[in-house]
Amino acid sequence: MKANCPICDTSLKLSADLIESEVFECVDCHRKIVVKSIGKKIELEEAPGVEEDWGE
Ligand SMILES: [Zn+2]
Repeated sequence: MKANCPICDTSLKLSADLIESEVFECVDCHRKIVVKSIGKKIELEEAPGVEEDWGE
């Protein structure tokens, strides 16, 4: 499966067993991306609240 990063628009290869609400990191911009929905089309969204380095 493929989808584009919602932040940097890079093409991402997604695992076939991806599930809704799964969070992964973009290989290009290293932001956290959450799987919003899976259907005929995969919808991705930047994970809320994690766009900045928390310093932990
Ligand atoms: Zn990205």
